[in-house]
Amino acid sequence: MTTGPDMNGIMPLAAGETFRFACHRGRPCFTECCRMLELALHPYDFVLLRRATGLDSPKLFERFIIEEDDRRYPFPRHYLAMVDDGRASCPFVDAKGCQIYPFRPAACRSYPVGRAALFHGQAVEERFVLVREEHCRGFADGALYRPADYLAEQGLTAINRCHDAVARLLQRPEMRTFTASDEEKRLYVLALCQTDLFRARLQDGDFADFTAAGPVPASDEELLPRAAAWLGRKFFPSS
Ligand code: SF4
Ligand code: SF4
Repeated sequence: MTTGPDMNGIMPLAAGETFRFACHRGRPCFTECCRMLELALHPYDFVLLRRATGLDSPKLFERFIIEEDDRRYPFPRHYLAMVDDGRASCPFVDAKGCQIYPFRPAACRSYPVGRAALFHGQAVEERFVLVREEHCRGFADGALYRPADYLAEQGLTAINRCHDAVARLLQRPEMRTFTASDEEKRLYVLALCQTDLFRARLQDGDFADFTAAGPVPASDEELLPRAAAWLGRKFFPSS
C-alpha cells in the first residue's frame, strides 16, 4: 500500500513502484539542492572526493571534511564542509552546476531516492523512500523510474556494494552494546574513509592479519568491502 509523504516530504516507495523525475539546468530550482544542506558522507564518498580533488586523505580532511564524534553512534560521522557564503553552499557548486559531477557523493546521486539495506543473516532486504521536497521541481516531468533503476542510472550499483559492506558491519547484533575505544575509532576511519593511507600501511607490512587473508586488492572498490569485513573480525574476534 502506498502512503503519502510525511512532514519532511519522505514517502515509502515499493521496489516496483514508479516515479517521474528529471533534473537538468532548465529547472528553476537548478542547484538549490546544493545549498543549505547537511551532506553526510559514506566511506566510499572519500574515494570519490579524492579522485575529484586529487588530494590525499590528510589534505582532503583538512580542507573539506567535518568529523563529528557523536556518542549516539559507535564511530565518527563525516560531513562535507559547506562554504560560509550566507547560503551554506557546497564547495563544489557554481552557476553551471556540480563541478565534480562524475565524482559526486552518493547522497547527491541517489536524490530523490533513499535506499536502506537491512541484513537478515546473509540475506539483504532493500527498502526505498522517495523524498519530495517543495523546492525540487524535478517531479514536473521526465522519465518513469523504479527506484533500483534510478539508482543504477546514477552509477550507484558498485557504490552500494561498498555501502552494504559497511552497513553489514554496523548492523551486527554486537554493535548494539559496542563502545569503540579511541584506537578502534581511528582504525575504522583509517580502513574505511582513508583507504589511500590504509593501503600504504598494508604495503608497509602493517596489519598482517589483513594481508594473511590474501594480497591487498588493487582497487578501492575491492579494498573497502574487505576492510569492513576485517574490522568486524577485529572488533568481535569471538563471534
Ligand atoms: S532541486 Fe531537484 S530538480 Fe532542482 S536541481 Fe536539485 S535535484 Fe534537480
Ligand atoms: S557535490 Fe555536487 S551535486 Fe553534491 S551538493 Fe555539491 S555541487 Fe551539489
